[in-house]
Amino acid sequence: MIGLGSIGKGTLPLIERHFKFDKSRFTVIDPVDGDAKLVTDRGYRFEKVALTPENYKDILTPLLTEGEGQGFVVNLSVDTSSLDLMKFCRKLGVLYIDTVVEPWPGFYFDDTATAADRTNYALREAVRREKKKHPGGTTAVCCCGANPGMVSWFVKKALVDIATDTGVKFKEPSSQKGWAKLMKKVGVKGIHIAERDTQRAKEPKPFGEFWNTWSVEGFLSEGFQPAELGWGTHETWKPANAKKHKKGCKAAIYLEQPGANTRVRTWCPTPGAQYGFLVTHNEAISIADYFSVSDGKKVSYRPTCHYAYHPANVAVLSLHELFGSAGKVQETLHVLDESELQDGIDELGVLLYGHKKNAYWYGSQLSVEEARDLAPYQNATGLQVTSAVLAGMVWALENPEAGIVETDEMDYKRCLEIQLPYLGPVKGYYTDWTPLEGRPGFYKEDIDTKDPWQFRNILVR
Ligand code: NAD
Repeated sequence: MIGLGSIGKGTLPLIERHFKFDKSRFTVIDPVDGDAKLVTDRGYRFEKVALTPENYKDILTPLLTEGEGQGFVVNLSVDTSSLDLMKFCRKLGVLYIDTVVEPWPGFYFDDTATAADRTNYALREAVRREKKKHPGGTTAVCCCGANPGMVSWFVKKALVDIATDTGVKFKEPSSQKGWAKLMKKVGVKGIHIAERDTQRAKEPKPFGEFWNTWSVEGFLSEGFQPAELGWGTHETWKPANAKKHKKGCKAAIYLEQPGANTRVRTWCPTPGAQYGFLVTHNEAISIADYFSVSDGKKVSYRPTCHYAYHPANVAVLSLHELFGSAGKVQETLHVLDESELQDGIDELGVLLYGHKKNAYWYGSQLSVEEARDLAPYQNATGLQVTSAVLAGMVWALENPEAGIVETDEMDYKRCLEIQLPYLGPVKGYYTDWTPLEGRPGFYKEDIDTKDPWQFRNILVR
């Protein structure tokens, strides 16, 4: 296991609970050893080292090749290249899983790079090129956390629910083409990964600190990347700073502004209408790409897809202070563990909109209290991620020769079957809400009244 941060610490007890393995050969790697006792007390090895492009092969080779059986790399670190690690593992015949396409350090904050170079589109395309170049082979599961990850399984479940509830005649698809056609038939215009984290810190956040319920480093990296979204075929308007890509799947566009400072209108069951941040995520691109209907050349249907994230209130305040101080990052970055949280839920789901029944949210409403009862060392946000890693690991063991896969390409029913016991209430809700609700108010607005589900109405300007 690479990385013993908030996600690594939460994944460790799930691995112990669900898999049989040789204890003496389980090694955790992290340059920070503050929690090493958690590993060594259980009889596993801890290696205090940062993987780098120069040393990763030397460090990992003995760990992955000694003794019998197939190795497994569970990559839950920041600052390591997912692509290099998965290529290396597949060469050795070692299974691999991660939760994002992570680059080596330098990628996110390279001020000589263009905005396009710093997109998740660029990161994902590099992995897709590798998949194309070397199809099949040892399984490497790419981006299998909560989002990206679990939400792709939710999209399929939600689509089946809507198709059933709107009387669409269909047989459950078994191919990418089939799924994309079904989404087109159901008339889904777009998808928000709509999340509201209501977990409340026991203490008020002090000025000059960035608090979050998961990696602050991870959140800042993606938050400073350009806002990115899968770009649907129904869209008739684009912001002036929107840019297309010239190469690759072309399923997404990006805006020349940081995602964590880009607000969108969205909806979650607990708050109802709310603002979320359009932070770039792999799934915004992979879902839009997966559900595209094309004849090989021309795309006749694609849903818009993006993240609409309302993090915990302390994180919203942290972002407000950060961008207000000319983008100066706070000195102290802090991840709240479950003992520092008073109450709250991480309401994380998918909002499929624009169909006959308007909009449908399907997702997990896991509370921090329930997370505490289910598994140690994690809050609700963490458990949604770590249980997806667990599901992905099971799937990889059951499908060891599937090549490089994204979660859209995995068996959603099998994965959810494994994950559901860890997700608290998982429910679907229809809503009448649209981004035109209450608009225009006192002031004139540039809105499209003919189609509420245009990005023009969703983006807060
Ligand atoms: P974290 O910051 O708490 O932990 C990251 C760990 O990686 C730290 O312990 C750090 O010391 C270690 N690390 C840093 N450089 C390293 C190197 N060169 N080699 C080995 N280890 C190194 O972050 P987290 O909250 O545990 O998140 C871990 C990863 O999971 C991040 O990439 C994050 O973006 C991702 N994540 C994905 C999802 C999802 O739903 N898909 C959700 C949360 C986090």
